[in-house]
Parts: sequence; structure tokens; C-alpha cells
Amino acid sequence: MKNKVILITGANKGIGETLSLEFSKIGVNVVLLGRNEESLDGVYDEIVATTSTKPLIIKCDLRNIDANGAKQINDEIMSAYGRLDGVIFNAAKLGKMSTIEDYGEESWREVFNVNLHSAFVISKEILPALKTASNGRIIFTSSGVAEAGRAFWGAYSASKFAVKGLAEILRDELETTSNIKVFNYDPGKTRTSMRASAYPAENPEDVKKPSALFNDYLWFFSEESQLSKQHYFKFDD
Ligand code: NDP
Repeated sequence: MKNKVILITGANKGIGETLSLEFSKIGVNVVLLGRNEESLDGVYDEIVATTSTKPLIIKCDLRNIDANGAKQINDEIMSAYGRLDGVIFNAAKLGKMSTIEDYGEESWREVFNVNLHSAFVISKEILPALKTASNGRIIFTSSGVAEAGRAFWGAYSASKFAVKGLAEILRDELETTSNIKVFNYDPGKTRTSMRASAYPAENPEDVKKPSALFNDYLWFFSEESQLSKQHYFKFDD
């Protein structure tokens, strides 16, 4: 993994923060994408203080990203490293928990922009770089509510169904034409602020920490996973 470059969206907290720190510890140069400068700086400083890797912060609000914004992201990565080995589309917005009848259009659009549209436009821009990597990887983040729709989960659930579709389409397009592997991964219940918002009555101590997920993510970037015919995985709780 040493000297590889991985883009992680939503790198400032939760699962994205943990993955950024853990991948840095094994020599990966992590591109930290997020919208909160202060917490991104905190992750950046910790990586620089504890590893000899070169992280890069890309500040971006994924609610508003378009093709130009995605091109800028790719350009910044190319000018900093001249390569990209993988992306983890981790950022997501839970949005409002309500019935569809009460769901606001703007809120629906924002959730879809963050959870789905950003991954579409960024994928388009980074594909040429990933195609030149020896084992390029695109990792999408799924959820239990992408398997069966559930009342009150609105745009979050619908967007995760769509992420599944995007992951399957990309996999089908890329598996016979490139070395890129596409995985869609459900981390299962994990102790983060999103989990606490969705399940406020749950005791966080009963939920695994994000660090428990790292071995699965490491495997996605391994030589072994290059041979995998399976593309959807779920954390084994
Ligand atoms: P967190 O809420 O801790 O992290 C979500 C990340 O997404 C944050 O970094 C957040 O940044 C970022 N994000 C949200 N909106 C935007 C935006 N507009 N622009 C840029 N970044 C944004 O949640 P988790 O760590 O739990 O979630 C990570 C992934 O795991 C998500 O895809 C989620 O759907 C998935 N997942 C999580 C589960 C769990 O139990 N935790 C279970 C199943 C799936 P900011 O701080 O700025 O909001």
C-alpha cells in the first residue's frame, strides 16, 4: 500500500476519519475530501504528526458539486501526486427522517447530490487516472436500507438503492476492460454521529467503532480482491 494515493470523501469524521488515519499509518497518501475545514485540518495534522505520508486536503461541499468541481478535484490530485489508486465514496447525508408525503424537495435533492451525484461526477473525472493504476479501486458505501425500503428513511434509502445501481453499472463496464475493481460495502451499524442521529435511543457503547471496519477496507485494496467475483459485501457483525 506504501505510496499509493487514495481519495476518501467525508474524511473529517466518523468512518472516513478512521479510514484516513489507518490508511496513512500503512504508508498511503490520503486525499482528505470534506467541507469542514477545521476538522479536516485536525485529521491532516494528526496524519502529519504520526506518519511520513503526504496527505492533501480538498475542501468541497458535495451538495453543490458539478462536473467542473469534479475536474478540479482530479486536477489537484494529479498535480500533487501524478497518480490515483482508489477512491472510497464514504460521505453521505442522512437527511430528514420523515414520510415521503412530508419530504421537502430541496432536502431530497441535497441528499441525492451528496450520496449519489457526487460519486457520479467524481468517478467520471478520475477514471482515466484509475485506469493507469495497477489495481484501481472504487469503493461505494451501502446501507441496510439499500436492501429493502423502510418507512421514514426517504432520500437516504432511495439514494443508497441508486448507489447500488451505479456500482453495478460501473463494475459491469470496467471489469472486462480495465484492472479497476468496484465494490459496494455496507459497514453495518457503526458508532458515528450519523448512527446516533438515526438511532438516538441506542447506547453507543453497544455499537462497534469505525476501526473494526479497517481490515475489510484493506482487503478491498489487496491483490487477493483483484480476483473476487463478488462485488457487494457487508460487515459481518
Ligand atoms: P458521519 O455522519 O460520521 O460522516 C459522514 C461524512 O459525510 C462526514 O465527513 C460529513 O461531513 C460528510 N458529508 C456529509 N455531507 C457532506 C457534504 N455536503 N459535503 C461534504 N461532505 C459531507 O457518518 P458515518 O461515518 O457513519 O458514515 C459514513 C458512511 O457509512 C456513509 O456513507 C453512511 O451512509 C455509511 N453507513 C454508516 C452506518 C453507520 O452505522 N454509521 C451504517 C451503514 C452505512 P460533515 O462533518 O461536514 O457533515
